[in-house]
Amino acid sequence: MKRIAALLLLLFLLCGCTAAHSAAADIFCMDTVMNLQIWGRDADKAIAETSQLLRELDSHWSAVRDDSVTAAMNRGETDLSAEDQALVDAVCALEARTGGAFHSRLYALSELWGFPGKEYRVPSQSEIDAALTEEKWDFGASLKGYAGQKAADLLSQLDVDRAILSLGGNVQTYGSKPDGSPWQIGIRNLEGGDSLGIISLTGTASVITSGSYQRYFEQDGIRYCHIIDPRTGCPARSGLVSVTVICRDGLTADALSTALFVLGLEDSTALWRESSDFEAVFVTDDGRILATEGANLSGCEYEVIRR
Ligand code: ADP
Ligand code: MG
Repeated sequence: MKRIAALLLLLFLLCGCTAAHSAAADIFCMDTVMNLQIWGRDADKAIAETSQLLRELDSHWSAVRDDSVTAAMNRGETDLSAEDQALVDAVCALEARTGGAFHSRLYALSELWGFPGKEYRVPSQSEIDAALTEEKWDFGASLKGYAGQKAADLLSQLDVDRAILSLGGNVQTYGSKPDGSPWQIGIRNLEGGDSLGIISLTGTASVITSGSYQRYFEQDGIRYCHIIDPRTGCPARSGLVSVTVICRDGLTADALSTALFVLGLEDSTALWRESSDFEAVFVTDDGRILATEGANLSGCEYEVIRR
């Protein structure tokens, strides 16, 4: 009898040890729906702490809230915590790396074109010229990538095996699948239906897409998207519909996705050739799909961009 009880206890413990506990949640944060899926003993705790982290980052860096760090910076306050200053420094370094195509002080222009409040309009050239001289911080092009990275750091401190966080379509992976098979990340198809193609990757990484289809308005047959070309002060029109960046660093992935969208195919390819930390997938206005040679894209026809 004792032996049976011991065997049952052993079986129970083994099952307890091997059963992959997982938890999932949908939250609304950073003006978008986010889906969190986490596996591991601490999955429930990790969902709660990750949700809280994302919400804190949202209010901390919000461009619209008066009590955010961003608002304080826009009032000229420069007394930042070491962690906040580190993000600002990293953002400035990415601005320099992209020749200013990624530029986090364009909020006056976003407001002028009506993007934050969705009250869209085409402004006059003199209004654009005036707004170009204003330097109003806005971390909207990098916050979700930074948040994904911070979330991965948080998960590494918990008993979590792996996770996949979809932050408004921007994906952060953490850890690896038990059988070692890669994560399969779908790239959104503009025509709806299934994803355009699949990115395969292992371990912790970010897959981030910027596109003209996300937020835009149309007037007189012209599509005006929410990504501004800092050289003109107007919505970017570089011949691309979307750019997806795959990178181990979330902040870099997010900043580059925005920058490459502004730069267009040719200049983006040049930037990729002089870099070694990211891969990219481009969809052009005329329907071409191109991927850099390390992008691991499958499930669609595409042209390969080689070094
Ligand atoms: P999303 O936020 O939709 O994922 P992006 O990461 O490309 O897309 O960021 C776009 C947002 O960044 C805009 O809504 C605006 O707040 C801001 N922004 C617009 N143009 C630029 C730019 N050239 N560089 C940096 N930020 C920008
Ligand atoms: Mg971005």
